[in-house]
Amino acid sequence: MATATAEAEVGPGRDFIRDIVQADLDAGKHREIVTRFPPEPNGYLHIGHAKSIALNFGIAEEFRGRCHLRFDDTNPTKEEQEYIDSIQRDVHWLGFDWGKNLFYASDYFERLYSWAELLVQNGLAYVDDQSQDEIRLSRGTLTEPGKNSPFRDRSAAENLDLFRRMRAGEFPNGARVLRAKIDMASGNINLRDPVLYRILHATHPRTGDAWKIYPSYDYAHGQSDAIEGITHSICTLEFEDHRPLYEWLLSKLPVPAHPHQYEFARLNLTYTLLSKRVLTELVRGGHVAGWDDPRMPTIAGFRRRGVPPAAIRDFVKRIGVAKANSVVDVGMLEFSIREILNKTALRRLAVLRPLKVVIENYPEGKTELLEAANHPDNPEAGKRNIVFSRELFIERDDFMENPPKKFFRLSPGTEVRLRYAYFITCREVVKNAAGDIVELRCTYDPATRGGNAPDGRKVKATMHWLSASHSVPAEIRVYNPLFTTQSPEAANFARDLNPQSLEVLTDARVEQAAVDTNSADAMQFERQGYFARDPDSKPDRPVFNRTIGLRDTFAKEVARG
Ligand code: ATP
Ligand code: MG
Repeated sequence: MATATAEAEVGPGRDFIRDIVQADLDAGKHREIVTRFPPEPNGYLHIGHAKSIALNFGIAEEFRGRCHLRFDDTNPTKEEQEYIDSIQRDVHWLGFDWGKNLFYASDYFERLYSWAELLVQNGLAYVDDQSQDEIRLSRGTLTEPGKNSPFRDRSAAENLDLFRRMRAGEFPNGARVLRAKIDMASGNINLRDPVLYRILHATHPRTGDAWKIYPSYDYAHGQSDAIEGITHSICTLEFEDHRPLYEWLLSKLPVPAHPHQYEFARLNLTYTLLSKRVLTELVRGGHVAGWDDPRMPTIAGFRRRGVPPAAIRDFVKRIGVAKANSVVDVGMLEFSIREILNKTALRRLAVLRPLKVVIENYPEGKTELLEAANHPDNPEAGKRNIVFSRELFIERDDFMENPPKKFFRLSPGTEVRLRYAYFITCREVVKNAAGDIVELRCTYDPATRGGNAPDGRKVKATMHWLSASHSVPAEIRVYNPLFTTQSPEAANFARDLNPQSLEVLTDARVEQAAVDTNSADAMQFERQGYFARDPDSKPDRPVFNRTIGLRDTFAKEVARG
């Protein structure tokens, strides 16, 4: 239950792509704007995808067009139904809807194939018997032209026969490919006879064993855009050099529309790797507990961690859309998460590392219900009661036997406020045989109920607490960045993994109200941060993930006075 739907006030945002869309509408080029988000179902979506989703669905919404969700399912060796399902769930969770416009590149396999035959018949494509390595080696470099394949000048009839036999499954994987016949000396390597079809004897999640050949990304993508009548095909900068090929294919085929491709800078984040290859290896290698591990930069990971979708939308709005690559400080994402959660999260009390406190002058067996606001700025969020009793827990860090000068929390002889409750004073420190502090003996001032002294005396700290026998034992998982360096190396990511990325607190305590809700929405555990219930929770043992900490807890403590 959220107390408000607080999306931060960031304007609609203008960027060069929206300017192009507006100009095209003004010029009467299109009656309706059609965009698409085209994930390959070979992994879960990450926050970089969220940027692309917000851009494509956002434009469709703002210009009253439509945005298609299209699975680019052209490589059955890497794609799985699990990924198809997770992608749909994540796009919806982010708050976007494709309505009826759910498509698969595989829906077009037959049409794509017949267009490829047309290229063959028109002398614009040929079957190459070279191996993958031979093709790569003869492609040339940025400074040297490529070499024509010895099979480049086969007749159209021979090519057609071989291509049909490729489709029929007559040849093993890798034996032959279909290549476009463009220009091996082109300055753009993508135009040096790119591969259009490869042989793959693999079962496809949707077409099963019907196909023995599969189209390349470059061949499938533009033609799928054309079939769907996409007006603005928006992709990341690494596809800029593919645009001439995108246009070449559209110009040679009897496609029903001529979409245009526009490129924007992909999202990069500090302390984060957003490559599906790396994310897959993190999961497969057991470095994390799964795609939805709260340390993962996946949408599923953020959801499990308790990050609200509004925070992700807010973040991608703030970073904008540019044409030059850059790296965004992960602190910007954390800022958006705190912005949203501060407004929406219900307040609760939890003690992460408990230290027992006995209030010596509080009667044994007595309890009191103290009222606490669910949200300090939103009275409509209501109140709940917290049980006070003789035996309490406070945070271990909130006590110091020999405090330094600026430590204002509890120490022998000092008086502090227990939030929503009373002033207490520490009278005695109890230690075990090993010399560890195991208990504090304190007294309370009954006149300070609610947190104020009738004589007007002040205390310098307000601390959270819970009744020992009325709080609920819980496990709390605290997450730290997955990588120790700002710019982890994708090729060598294991070296940069943070061994302290997960800290499990097994003795934590939370108030009953934190457990009564079944919601996955994050709560604020006062003075600690934001926490969300994890699906690993058992009825008698709730588990919470720390979504994010509060800023400057110590500085605030000092300032509060
Ligand atoms: P990765 O490079 O992480 O493996 P991908 O590009 O292979 O991702 P796709 O499923 O092809 O993953 O991506 C779908 C869409 O999301 C593409 O249009 C792609 O340009 C876009 N996209 C992928 N990563 C990012 C990113 N970091 N920032 C913005 N958009 C992205
Ligand atoms: Mg891709």
